[in-house]
Amino acid sequence: MALLFLDDAYLKSCEAVVTGVREDGAILTDRTCFYATSGGQPGDTGHFERADGGRIEIVGTVTGETKQQVLHIPALGQPMPAIGDRLIMHLDWERRLKLMRMHTACHLLSVVCPFPITGASVSEDDSRVDFDMAETIDKAEVTEKLMQLVRADHPVSIEWIADADLDANPGLVKSKNVRPPRGTGRLRLVCIGEASSVDSQPCGGTHVRSTAEVGEIHIGKIEKKGKENRRFRIRFGAAPD
Ligand SMILES: [Zn+2]
Repeated sequence: MALLFLDDAYLKSCEAVVTGVREDGAILTDRTCFYATSGGQPGDTGHFERADGGRIEIVGTVTGETKQQVLHIPALGQPMPAIGDRLIMHLDWERRLKLMRMHTACHLLSVVCPFPITGASVSEDDSRVDFDMAETIDKAEVTEKLMQLVRADHPVSIEWIADADLDANPGLVKSKNVRPPRGTGRLRLVCIGEASSVDSQPCGGTHVRSTAEVGEIHIGKIEKKGKENRRFRIRFGAAPD
C-alpha cells in the first residue's frame, strides 16, 4: 500500500482501488492519503466517493498488521465496496490541518524544552507532551519561546536517512521510551529550519510546511506528574490573561 501522506501531507484527496474488505468492515486500498493512528497523532476521518457518486463515511484510520498496512474504518451501516472498485478518498481536511498544526507545535515544544519525551498525544484543540524533567518552568516563558519559533517562519521538511546514519547519531532521538521504527532500512526525519538549523528528529506523522502555519498557540497548563515528569498542554489561540 502506498502511503501518500508520507511525502505530501497536503494531499487532501486521491484516487485508489479497493484491495480488500475485512470481516470487521475495514477497507484496504492500493494507496491512501489517510494517516493511520500512530506516534500520538490520531488517524484521519473523511469519506470515500464511489464511481456511482455514493459516499462511504470513514470514522477512523488505523494500522493493520504492519505500519505499511492502513485500515480505513467505515461508519456503521455504510455501503461496502467490492475488491477492484475505484474510489476517490477525501480527507476531513479542516480536522487534519489542525492536527498537523498541533503536531508541529509539539516538535517546537521539544526544541524549547530540550528534555527526553516520555509521552505525547495530539488532538484537534489540545495536545500534551510529557517530559522527563525535574525543573520548574514558567508557562508564559515557554509560550513566548514557542511563538518566536512560529513567527520566524522556519521551513519544515522531510528527509530520509539510512538506519545506519541514525546509529551514528543517536542524539537525534528525543523520545525516551519509543524507538523509531526499524526494518525498512530507512528512516524519516522531520527537519525544522534551513539545513535543520532548529531541529531534526525521526517522525512518521504529518506536519505543516512552515512554522508560521502553526499559528498562534500557547501553553495552557504545566502539570507535575511525579517528581521527574512534567506534562505540558498546548492550545490554539492567545494565552488567556
Ligand atoms: Zn512529528
